[in-house]
Amino acid sequence: AQDKRESLYLVSEFASKYFQNILLNTDQGKSIGLSYFKERGFTDETIKKFNLGYSLDQWSAFTDAALKKGYKLEFLEATGLTIVKENKQFDRFKGRVLFPIQSMSGRVLGFGGRILTNDKKAAKYLNSPESDLYHKSKVLYGIYNAKQSIAKEDNCYLVEGYTDVIQFYQTGIKNVVSSSGTALTSDQIRLINRLTKNITVLFDGDAAGMRASLRGIDLILEQGMNVKVCTFPEGEDPDSFAKSNTLEELKQYLDDNAKDFIQFKASVLYESAKNDPIKKAETVRDIVNSIAKIPDRIKTEIYIQECARIMDISEEVLFTTLAQLTKKEE
Ligand code: ATP
Ligand code: MN
Ligand code: MN
Ligand code: MN
Repeated sequence: AQDKRESLYLVSEFASKYFQNILLNTDQGKSIGLSYFKERGFTDETIKKFNLGYSLDQWSAFTDAALKKGYKLEFLEATGLTIVKENKQFDRFKGRVLFPIQSMSGRVLGFGGRILTNDKKAAKYLNSPESDLYHKSKVLYGIYNAKQSIAKEDNCYLVEGYTDVIQFYQTGIKNVVSSSGTALTSDQIRLINRLTKNITVLFDGDAAGMRASLRGIDLILEQGMNVKVCTFPEGEDPDSFAKSNTLEELKQYLDDNAKDFIQFKASVLYESAKNDPIKKAETVRDIVNSIAKIPDRIKTEIYIQECARIMDISEEVLFTTLAQLTKKEE
């Protein structure tokens, strides 16, 4: 099994280099893939740092090249890079720009591929399927490039997409990783937990981003970590915002808008219905629910005090509610 994994690593490594070579050194790669990345504002340096690539818009250009180099079809298929159907071979990522997904130690585990047309029928992003190497719930895009900065800054920015990571990194904020479209998991948070106890969630300025941020909070608290949330203006995501602002403006925005989770919950859940007692009660309960996930008693107490202050409720009532909740879970 170890041998098989090693073979899959070698195939993935080869593929990553192959796709980057196509992007940088072929006419089609340059005119289609590279110009796409340039339009998104990525520099040559960034493109190399993230090993971005392009898969030709042909049925099996990659597979043919890999077989010719001696890589076995069995392993090409096992990584998902090649799809075998009725004895014919097809390149999974045909015609897409590619984002190799690396492990904490820098090995290529899989790929994300973005379509370049506005074809509404095809998925905008396509990822490698689950394999012996790639477990989507256990990887964080960008972790290899970010890990040093995460430890140094003692904070990790968590974004939704590949391009958010890359644009932040290029702008100068390097402690950034992405869950890449999957709902955040405990395993992903555990990877960050090895480097810092502080996460700032930066999801897209839309309803989906808001929901995803709310879902992520409890998972982060459960691991004894601290969580802040910073939202973006409607219709913006970290990529678009970083692209149209300088590093100083971006840092300023993050400083001004990052709220701790209680303020965030209080603002999104309650702000819209300030004078509605029922809504207020729901919001308080929701916040206490989150506080109940925190393993550290001292922190729990501090957050209860903060919740009492923000929501203007007595600490006593909140502690009673908290006690009921923690009792239920035992
Ligand atoms: P772009 O800026 O390239 O249009 P994005 O990263 O802003 O893309 P979102 O629509 O905000 O894309 O989605 C966030 C992330 O979710 C993507 O980066 C990708 O990892 C994942 N994702 C989006 N659409 C799909 C899809 N159709 N299939 C699988 N994953 C997807
Ligand atoms: Mn989105
Ligand atoms: Mn987005
Ligand atoms: Mn985007």
